[in-house]
Amino acid sequence: MGPKRRLSLLPPKVLSLENWDEITQSILQCTACELARNCSQKVPGAGNRQADLMIIGEGPGHDEDIQGEPFVGRSGQLLDKMLTAIGIEREQVFITNIVKCRPPNNRDPKQQEAQQCRTFLDAQIRQVKPRVILSVGRVSAQSLLDSKKPVGKLIEQMHQLPGTDIPLKVTYHPAYLLRTPSAKAIAWQDLKLLHHLLNR
Ligand code: SF4
Repeated sequence: MGPKRRLSLLPPKVLSLENWDEITQSILQCTACELARNCSQKVPGAGNRQADLMIIGEGPGHDEDIQGEPFVGRSGQLLDKMLTAIGIEREQVFITNIVKCRPPNNRDPKQQEAQQCRTFLDAQIRQVKPRVILSVGRVSAQSLLDSKKPVGKLIEQMHQLPGTDIPLKVTYHPAYLLRTPSAKAIAWQDLKLLHHLLNR
C-alpha cells in the first residue's frame, strides 16, 4: 500500500445534487470521511440512469477500486449471471454502493461513513427513481433499512426503502455466495421474486 494521502476531511459540499453532473462531481471531489484517504479512486456507480432496478452493494473492493466500476471481478461476474438468469442485462440496471470509496482492507464501512455518503446515494435514488431496489449483502441491507438484524432475517421479508414507497428486496452478496454455494438456493428465490416485482 502506498503512503497515505494527506487530505483535510471536509463535510460534503452543500450542492443541490439535482442532476447527474452535480452528483458525480461532488462524489469525485468529496473528502468528507477518512475513506477518501486510501482509495485509488471514487466509484460513484454505473449503468442505466433510468433503470427500473437499482442494485446497492456495500462499497468498492480491490477490483472496483482499481477499475472505478462497481461489482467487477468474480463477484461481479456472478452478479451478472444472476441477473441474466432472470432476463436482465447489467446495462439495464443502475449499480452503486453505500460508500463510494474503498474501505481499507475491505473492512465494513463505519456507520458515520455510510451516513456521510448517504447524501450521494439518496440523490442517485432520486434521479433513477427505480421501481425496485435490490440490496446486496449485510452491510447494504442493515444500512438501508437502519437495522441490526442479520441479513438472513432481512432476506425473509419484503421491505420498502424507509421514507419512500420503493420496494426493497435483500439478498446475499455474490462474494458470500461464492464462499457458501448452499445459499444459492435462497438467492434464486430472491431473484424469482425480483423478476415478479419487475414484471407485474
Ligand atoms: Fe465522500 Fe463517500 Fe468517499 Fe466518504 S466514502 S469520502 S462520504 S465519497
